[in-house]
Amino acid sequence: MSATSSHPAAHIRGWCPGAWQPMASGDGLVVRVRPPLGRLTAQQALLLAQLAQDHGGGLLELTSRANVQLRGIAPDRHRVVLQALAAQDLLDSDARTERLRNLVIDPLWRAGDGVQALAQALQAALSQAPDLDALPAKFGFSIASGHHAGLAQVAADVRLQASTGQAWLVQAEGQAMAWKAPSPQQAVEAALALARWCATQALARRSQGLHPGRLSRLLQDWQAEHAALPVLPQLQLSLQPVCTSSSDAPPPGWQAGLGLLVAAPLGRVTASALARLASTHAGGLRPTPWRMLLVEGIDHAGAEAAGLDDAQHWMNSASDARLRVSACTGAPGCQQALAPTQALALALAPHVPQGAHLHVSGCAKGCARQQPATVTLRAQAGDKAPMFEVIRHGTAHGLADAAWEAATLRDNPGLLFEEI
Ligand code: SF4
Repeated sequence: MSATSSHPAAHIRGWCPGAWQPMASGDGLVVRVRPPLGRLTAQQALLLAQLAQDHGGGLLELTSRANVQLRGIAPDRHRVVLQALAAQDLLDSDARTERLRNLVIDPLWRAGDGVQALAQALQAALSQAPDLDALPAKFGFSIASGHHAGLAQVAADVRLQASTGQAWLVQAEGQAMAWKAPSPQQAVEAALALARWCATQALARRSQGLHPGRLSRLLQDWQAEHAALPVLPQLQLSLQPVCTSSSDAPPPGWQAGLGLLVAAPLGRVTASALARLASTHAGGLRPTPWRMLLVEGIDHAGAEAAGLDDAQHWMNSASDARLRVSACTGAPGCQQALAPTQALALALAPHVPQGAHLHVSGCAKGCARQQPATVTLRAQAGDKAPMFEVIRHGTAHGLADAAWEAATLRDNPGLLFEEI
């Protein structure tokens, strides 16, 4: 693989390496890449594979916000990695722009449905908005095509969903009503108005020594006090009820007219598998918030040539038992982890009944899954070996009703799903 240090920073305009503070983890630095408009070209994907292979741990993580993470980057290689990303347009000019560009764009968008155009307009507006610095960390948007409901489970402070004609629905998280914007431009203005209002409220709370809170909570507090939503000029739009029901992520498989949706075990793609895909298929890749990749325009022969039928690296069938488990980084990759998680999750996967889900978490934070699972195993320090507390129909924060060592669970996997 080619050396990435052949892209000197001096040749990269508009990029300030000092603005990028690396995220440290137990296995080195983590570099998060937000693909521009939610899409990677084959060349960009190949670069990510090369960087993971040459400077990282040989794995890439697909995240629940449709980003791609390189892990295990040695501190002395961080600058080289950023230079290479910048040279392929995979790095924003500064950390502020990257933080504000927190958009989850429906990966199942289709030509002409307006999703990409709206994302581009919102991204441009965010980059020029001067008054959003006080936004709570992780403030984000989602842009849904309306073709499916799979984005409803994805966390977002402001949700934009295509409606009839040119209209868009703009919904704040936690609200049962949405504003109907007749045009994409008005939808962007409404979304920005909500973000500005949130930033102002967050700033006021910080000045009082309070946690800034999320938009949903700030709106609820406002409604409790004023018995109405805040009046914003850009939101003088009609309100209409929206369906708040969520649906599961689309299963891996063929998406008619789009390509192939493929998953990787526990959302982790090996550098070699991604390199093979990107070097044999010239089409784009869309990372999804369901920790899969949509491979644009590929056919059966192309999928075989790209190695997508290799079950060691990829899952392209809804019946693959590994889809029924999730696990966070765990030990040793995460410094907060109380036990390894991934090997245990994969070992137990064949024993998870259809329709059930097992989540293995290295601590109570529950990074890999925020929604409840049929069974959640939460690592806990033990006298001799780490224990896994068992939480049924809850999240990693929930109340446990039992605790076992990993070895016991491997030997008696039926313990976990007896009631099903
Ligand atoms: S859930 Fe805990 S152990 Fe797992 S990645 Fe998150 S912080 Fe680390």
